[in-house]
Amino acid sequence: MIITLAISLAFGTLIGSFLNVCIYRIPKHENITTTRSHCMSCGNVIKWYDLVPILSYILLRGKCRFCKAKLSIQYPIIELLNGLLYCLIAAVAGINVQSVLIMALSSVLIVIAVIDWRTYEIPFGLNVFILVLGILRTIFDALNIYEGLVIGEVSAVSSLTVSDHIIGGLCVSGFLLILFFATKGRGIGGGDIKLMAAAGLFLGWKNCILAFVLGCTFGSVIHLIRMRVSKQDHVLAFGPYLAAGIFIASLWGDRIVNAYLSTF
Ligand SMILES: [Zn+2]
Repeated sequence: MIITLAISLAFGTLIGSFLNVCIYRIPKHENITTTRSHCMSCGNVIKWYDLVPILSYILLRGKCRFCKAKLSIQYPIIELLNGLLYCLIAAVAGINVQSVLIMALSSVLIVIAVIDWRTYEIPFGLNVFILVLGILRTIFDALNIYEGLVIGEVSAVSSLTVSDHIIGGLCVSGFLLILFFATKGRGIGGGDIKLMAAAGLFLGWKNCILAFVLGCTFGSVIHLIRMRVSKQDHVLAFGPYLAAGIFIASLWGDRIVNAYLSTF
């Protein structure tokens, strides 16, 4: 178990450093794979030994090796966050096809959350990536390929029927689409609707509704607090809250929904 968690943490932080690249380059429409990582101030290409997640940041004391410009604290935070999420997923769901899909989903959600927070837009390509994960999970669930592919604990994530997945893709996004037209596009962003369609396909309809309810709850509570604290009218970026709801629903959704239904 310790080894599984250590590998998940290491792998998660490595992917996390790639997520930083995505977060900076996607909104600028820069290529995320061919250009080598460079300092934002002096432009020097960063040496491979300075690209070790978290450790390099600490060893360099948060400064560029060449020009000593301050490096954003966001780099190690994203790396650590992604590493910890992978650990959490491995601990809750084991290492298997489903948990690897959830890891991929959570990484895209981090990128979406940060970019939406900053730019109020969710890049189309990221929603397409989640859609691909949703299609994969629907196919895997339909073929029930999980048997024999489980390493460690058996996943707590249950397999769904194809119609569960398809209704998941349509239920919340359909509701939001009506809201979109009813409010002439002011009530909700197009990116949020596409996100709920793609994530809904992945989650199935029960967990999709849960994800949306959680997202709305987080969004309204945190938005109210921010408006109180800073006394100004913030524009609400819905993406980060939806992302948090989707993550929780992907990992604990079945348990939460079952616990809720058993109270009746
Ligand atoms: Zn520099």
